[in-house]
Amino acid sequence: MKYAIQYSATKDIVEYTISVLKTLIANNGHELVSDPNDADIIAVSVCDVSQVTFLEKVRMQYPNKKIAVGGHATIYYKLFALFADYVNIGQGFEFFECQSIDEIESLPSVWVSAFPKEKLYPSTRIDWGKVPVANVTKGQTYYWGAVGCKNKCTFCMTSWTNPHQKNARARVDRVLSKYKTCTIVSNDSDDVASRMTQSIMLKDFIRVPLKKYSVYRMGLEFATEEMRRKYGKPFSDDEFAYAIRRAIDEGVRLKLFCISGLNSIEEWGRFFDRMPDVYVQGRIDVKFTNIAYEMFAPIKRERHNLDVDKLMDTTRATEFILPIKERVWPLRYMPCSGREFCVHRNILMWSSARDEYEQWRLLKNATLGQLAGYYFGSGILENDYSDTVVIDHALAGIK
Ligand code: SF4
Repeated sequence: MKYAIQYSATKDIVEYTISVLKTLIANNGHELVSDPNDADIIAVSVCDVSQVTFLEKVRMQYPNKKIAVGGHATIYYKLFALFADYVNIGQGFEFFECQSIDEIESLPSVWVSAFPKEKLYPSTRIDWGKVPVANVTKGQTYYWGAVGCKNKCTFCMTSWTNPHQKNARARVDRVLSKYKTCTIVSNDSDDVASRMTQSIMLKDFIRVPLKKYSVYRMGLEFATEEMRRKYGKPFSDDEFAYAIRRAIDEGVRLKLFCISGLNSIEEWGRFFDRMPDVYVQGRIDVKFTNIAYEMFAPIKRERHNLDVDKLMDTTRATEFILPIKERVWPLRYMPCSGREFCVHRNILMWSSARDEYEQWRLLKNATLGQLAGYYFGSGILENDYSDTVVIDHALAGIK
């Protein structure tokens, strides 16, 4: 079949997904065409619910073409189904193996507009031997080391919607010996010492050998020990203080990620008080990201508790960080999207019908009060369709 690929974002990781798509198209004997008008199917890749607006544009541009959507965000399939003929949930290996429309339509992972299925079964098969090393930007290659995640943070969709699967060690080693600076894409903390930028959990950071000048990205997530335990990423305040000391002593750089919206500013203040006084060049970045009540993660149970007073924005976060920075000099603040953006995004995640989508668009420039009013009063929070996606792997089962 003839495929054309469309995608909106230009981030490296999206480019990587596109290169996997191109490989799957070529490996399965399909043709990749540059003009969507020549394609049998326009394949649209999405990694975030907000890209539904891009999909809408593709639909408007090619109203009579068959459009198939795939990618991480398609688990919110009812949203993407508004503008697509097919929505594939999970991996794409089985999808691109199909040699006809009939085969695509019979896949259990594919929602079909002509006859919507009551239940969908995400595709979890990965043909590791066919995963390409992607040359994303000049001199920078990426390769899948693992998908999913061993941890089960209750606010993160990753481990609840994807089984944790690892590439073979020997295959990864072969890639690393050929492409010395290749980034191995993975949520695991293995091989920490071999990469310059590494996502790592704090509980691992304080015990593994560190590599000088490397950047370690850590999700601190919440301000109190109780909350970190509750949501699945436990570490003590003492361990946090030790991690900061260790980073400074060993000359590594930290990027710390915090989820705002559940803790009060006072709780955040007490948490950051645990940072030791220090004066070195900027090495610790802090970023707040406001809470997302994902429909496919256990955090969804708390969606009715959204508290706009606890959300951060750049102004609030700057006011919070500046006094701490006076005694912890390496601290640097990374911008935070606004409180309105957070509520608007949560509205989109819980929208599933066309009129709800249109309403979400109309709310683009609404005030925080208007957004909160719609979020709580419109009924969208009752749209939970997560039980129509049958997630069948060891980590599944939101209680
Ligand atoms: S937040 Fe990080 S550690 Fe937790 S499940 Fe998601 S990817 Fe894994």
